Amino acid sequence: MTGESDPVRADGGSESEVDRIAELAKRRGFFTQTADVYGGVGGFYTYGPHGTALKDSVEESWRDLFITRQGNMEVDAPTILPEAVFEASGHLEIFDDMILECSECGATHRADHLVEDTTDIEEAESLPPEEVAELVAGHDIGCPTCGAALAGEPVGEFNLMFETNIGPGTAAPGYLRPETAQGIFVEFPQLAEYARNQLPFGVGQVGRAYRNEISPRKALVRVREFSQAELEQFYDPETDEPPLSRVADVGLPLYSVEQQRENGDLRELTVREAVDNGVIESEWIAYYLGLSLSWYESIGVDMDRFRYRQHLPGELSHYAADCWDAETEIGGDWVEVTGFADRGSYDLDRHAAHSGESFSVFKQYDDPVTVERPTVDPEMSELGPAFGGAAEAIADALAERARRDPDAFDEEVVTVEANGDSYEVPVEHTGFAIEEVTESGEHVTPHVVEPSFGVGRLVYTVLVHAYREDEVDSESRRYLAVPPAVAPTTVGVFPLMDRDELPDYAREVAGRLREAGLSVTYDETGAIGRRYRRQDEIGTPFCVTIDYDTLEADTVTVRERDSTAQVRVPVGDLADTLRRLRDGDTEFDQL
Ligand code: AMP
Repeated sequence: MTGESDPVRADGGSESEVDRIAELAKRRGFFTQTADVYGGVGGFYTYGPHGTALKDSVEESWRDLFITRQGNMEVDAPTILPEAVFEASGHLEIFDDMILECSECGATHRADHLVEDTTDIEEAESLPPEEVAELVAGHDIGCPTCGAALAGEPVGEFNLMFETNIGPGTAAPGYLRPETAQGIFVEFPQLAEYARNQLPFGVGQVGRAYRNEISPRKALVRVREFSQAELEQFYDPETDEPPLSRVADVGLPLYSVEQQRENGDLRELTVREAVDNGVIESEWIAYYLGLSLSWYESIGVDMDRFRYRQHLPGELSHYAADCWDAETEIGGDWVEVTGFADRGSYDLDRHAAHSGESFSVFKQYDDPVTVERPTVDPEMSELGPAFGGAAEAIADALAERARRDPDAFDEEVVTVEANGDSYEVPVEHTGFAIEEVTESGEHVTPHVVEPSFGVGRLVYTVLVHAYREDEVDSESRRYLAVPPAVAPTTVGVFPLMDRDELPDYAREVAGRLREAGLSVTYDETGAIGRRYRRQDEIGTPFCVTIDYDTLEADTVTVRERDSTAQVRVPVGDLADTLRRLRDGDTEFDQL
């Protein structure tokens, strides 16, 4: 199981919304199918110039909030990691999806998706494969490729990791990481040092992840290579609390397990209420749900098409104790854009056990404490002759028993297991004693809460949610109402006409705006109305036109995308005005 929720049909929405965006994305350079000239390759997309700019803006804004403003660290690990990492993380063994192969045409399908697409069952992923096979048969599901009946076809497990070899030969297998997280966990001993062993601390990473999806679909929603922005929040579960008061009053649209089972309605609770009522168990998850909400809005997610949904028990990933997904509605389906998982100490415990290294931090007490500690000091001159080659192992077992079960040493003989056998040791040969020791601190294995954002799904959501159609001057118009802060281009600069000094002046203005750090497109081709439409379609929030009044009075018109309203601004103030508009420090109608 990947733990990834499968889209559930929502009310309203339309398929054609998705088609329109696919068409716009290709024509206007947001994203296209990779290697289209060779027929394309399923599950791989190339971001064009505007898509790249939008994706960069989303990532930058994520970094600003989740790294810089939270005082967290960021790392950049390789995308290929050795097998040992994924043996320890459990991905090699369990990171599987359910596969079903059509024996008629050979096409492979995700068995749980077949069931969800043809029945009312929403989370077939949480069912065992045998049950999914029965549902395929029971509902007479046919092969989506050739139509043949699939009843009786076995449902198998397919590991989603891409395998490769590190160096020549096959001696050192490696895997393309299926999540960026493991690159952080394996470096934990170093990272804890960088954090001066002070919990809590957070480590983030923005980068590629790879999953060999059985059936990629819905453009950027389910692909085989995608970008994640992940934050691993390390904390001491006994003592560390998040700064909940900062987000306590944020209202969360929650779709808990209970709501899903009862009535299917969302329940709006503040962060504080959700924690106090026990709807969200982990305060750290609640904190990040609260922190993220306004961020989604700031990048252009429509909050009427957004919810936080809790995972059903069978749906949880192998590492997660609890998980909430941020979901957005796209074309009538709910799509997971972020998973907020409580990973407990699962990953650090596993890497500690597999590597033999310490994945804990030493927490210094404010004042040293004196504790009683049971110890043994076995008399080897007695154990050796009595137990021969097993004596060393028996001594170790005695030490372990004393730590776990000191009362056992109240008897005359102590029984321990060593090398698979049971031995009875007279207590007077064990050197058992209770010592008083002064401890200055303790070793703590941190717990982890992980917000894991899928950048591509967010970019796609923003495009879908920003798409608008209206009429301007009796002509229909399409535009993307993306927030100015993330728009691929902030400003289009046009000379009203391609003559006199207008183009030279306009080029000079464009150059000055670029120098001021704004993202600018210069366009002098075609009628002015056409040029506005081009910028509207890629979501450019402001257009500046240089006309004959500019030559006289050094003022330009600034037109706002959504309202198409225009104001005149002195050229000298232009860069500053546009910067403030982009950063949300001024509203257009205040100009
Ligand atoms: P997960 O580890 O499955 O919870 O994934 C974390 C995030 O990565 C999800 O919330 C998605 O946004 C994103 N993601 C996972 N799988 C894919 C995929 N095949 N294509 C695009 N994004 C994905």
